[in-house]
Amino acid sequence: MGNTKINEIFGDNVFNDSVMKERLPKETYELLKDAAVSGKSIDNDIAGTVALAMKEWAIEKGATHFTHWFQPMTGITAEKHDSFIAPTGDGHIIMDFSGKELIKGEPDASSFPSGGLRATFEARGYTAWDPSSFAFVKDNTLCIPTAFCSYGGEALDQKTPLLRSMQAVGKQALRIVKLFGMDDVTSVLTTAGPEQEYFLVDKELLNKRPDLVYCGRTLMGAVPPKGQEMHDHYFGVIKPRVAAFMKELDDELWRLGVLAKTEHNEAAPAQHELAPIFTTTNIAADHNQLTMELMKKIADKHGLVCLLHEKPFKGVNGSGKHNNWSLATNTGVNLLNPGKNPSDNKLFLLCLAGVVKAVDTHQDLLRISSATAGNDHRLGGAEAPPAIISMYLGEELTDILEAVENGVHHDDRHKIKMSIGAEAIPYIKRDNTDRNRTSPFAFTGNKFEFRMLGSASSISDTNVMMNTMMADVFCEFADRLENAGNFEEEVTAIIRESVREHKRIIFNGDGYSDEWQEEAKKRGLLNLKSTPDAIPMLCDGKNVEMFERHKVFNQTELRCRADISLENYAKVIHIEALTLSEMVRRDIMPAISKTIFRLCRTADEKQRILPSKLCRYEKDLVERLSECNEKIYSFVSELDEKSADAKHTAEPLERANKYKENVLTLMEEIRKVTDTAETLVAREDWPYPTYGDLLFKI
Ligand code: ADP
Ligand code: MG
Repeated sequence: MGNTKINEIFGDNVFNDSVMKERLPKETYELLKDAAVSGKSIDNDIAGTVALAMKEWAIEKGATHFTHWFQPMTGITAEKHDSFIAPTGDGHIIMDFSGKELIKGEPDASSFPSGGLRATFEARGYTAWDPSSFAFVKDNTLCIPTAFCSYGGEALDQKTPLLRSMQAVGKQALRIVKLFGMDDVTSVLTTAGPEQEYFLVDKELLNKRPDLVYCGRTLMGAVPPKGQEMHDHYFGVIKPRVAAFMKELDDELWRLGVLAKTEHNEAAPAQHELAPIFTTTNIAADHNQLTMELMKKIADKHGLVCLLHEKPFKGVNGSGKHNNWSLATNTGVNLLNPGKNPSDNKLFLLCLAGVVKAVDTHQDLLRISSATAGNDHRLGGAEAPPAIISMYLGEELTDILEAVENGVHHDDRHKIKMSIGAEAIPYIKRDNTDRNRTSPFAFTGNKFEFRMLGSASSISDTNVMMNTMMADVFCEFADRLENAGNFEEEVTAIIRESVREHKRIIFNGDGYSDEWQEEAKKRGLLNLKSTPDAIPMLCDGKNVEMFERHKVFNQTELRCRADISLENYAKVIHIEALTLSEMVRRDIMPAISKTIFRLCRTADEKQRILPSKLCRYEKDLVERLSECNEKIYSFVSELDEKSADAKHTAEPLERANKYKENVLTLMEEIRKVTDTAETLVAREDWPYPTYGDLLFKI
């Protein structure tokens, strides 16, 4: 597609700024823009005008329905479609859409998780228009981004707390930039650029695997002779079928105004990544949801399935979502941009020290934001960050902070120049953050990159945590600075103290190494290995106080969220256990028996014409395969018992722990045996496509 074409289609299906400018009365447009930034509410008259223009525009785009598009705590988006039609009384209809319908919706949403916030007898939560994210047309439906709340106003979704947290950090960060004399700034926003990893697998093959169909991950599968050790997939040539998928995906995303920028192959075979250009967090979160949705839909059209699970295949890399995060003023200043002389850039250093303090103080929250049953399989593997939160700043910034801590001057001119050995390519200054791929939280030039988040999760939780933590730190800094006798000295004192008290969180070494596990323990850093270890900390006193102080969550909301996370964890493992049980009972054990039977018959036949010692192959194999089946048979009976027991445990944490300790461990035991069996059973008897088929046959 030529460049002009991209220009033409970009944002084509979005009721964006330029469409609004063109179609709304000037006054309405200005009020709406103001509301989007300030969060002020919009009255019915204005909403009516906007609704009318939106409807007309949407109908021109082929829309017949509208929906309040929202993000309940299931991790995916929800929509309930209503058509525009309204009867006129004379047997005809008109296409109608009112301001009231734009502002507020009442989906019958009793079956979305609420953690008890909304008893089913008063099941009606309501959805409220979020004017800071543009409406769009998708599948002949006008989609209106909305927040989803209970009647009491408690958040039942991912968007509400995100908007609240953006307001909180915006307010406190504004105090800081004002203190630095940036009088022209009227607001500070957080930005996010989420890189999305995913796998593409042939649909026909995948449909033969109940584990991938029901769970999105393989519960068994022997390692193929070839994996990712040759590194030939990473950034390799994209296969035609995948390229066609990517092209259509880009196309559709661009039409929806999503700034899809780079697409490339990832480390594992069949693994790919999409990175968008960053935008404000709220919109980035909406866009990431759309991206995941479209990936699935478009893959299907190409005879593929897009797996967003964090660990679809054992033994090859899993998928994450790198959440790149920063703060920007409405005048376009990135507060995490070090500039040419970082050691003289006191505002930057203060923000940096703030992040150091926040991340160390709230390691638990970042870990919690990435805690799911799926992601537990990924964290701590030798390809993803460990479950320990630490920060990578790179040598130069670490030196600068150390210099401030010790009250000495740091000379930025010592920056190392790096030659890449080819004359034609100019000298590039070695990125002052270099590249550390093993850190869960790395400074990468002018932003922080959080790499722990799982590929299937919404980015909202992580950004809620980041924003609130930073709001809290900025609030404390601003209180001190507003009352300081000598501003400059107080800034230095705050940076110094923050570094001194929190530098244990800075680690520039190899996060995958065993030594780091030991070292982190010595430093007293948290190592929350699993979801049930992490989630209960959400309701710790320090967290409740902080979230309430900044009006992001109240205690009830936090408790409900913790319960929902534990419930989801238990449900996921329960489904996996049932799936595995069915697979081994109905397919694997019969397949093993089939091979055994044939071997026995062969041995029998042979013995009639040959001396018995020539049956070693058959006899050995029959013995080994019989052992496999015996083991599987007793494990799977135990698995059924243990998962039934876990299911009937009422208390959410106790239940989650039972799934982790009793059910998951047994599933692993079964897997060991089935994976051995897979290498022994005759190819024609094995019921499922192998890892080799799934990973290499596209
Ligand atoms: P890498 O894979 O090396 O980490 P990419 O270019 O794939 O780098 O991704 C970097 C991501 O960071 C992109 O989504 C980019 O838009 C985002 N990003 C860049 N600057 C900012 C910023 N100031 N705030 C948030 N995200 C940013
Ligand atoms: Mg990255």
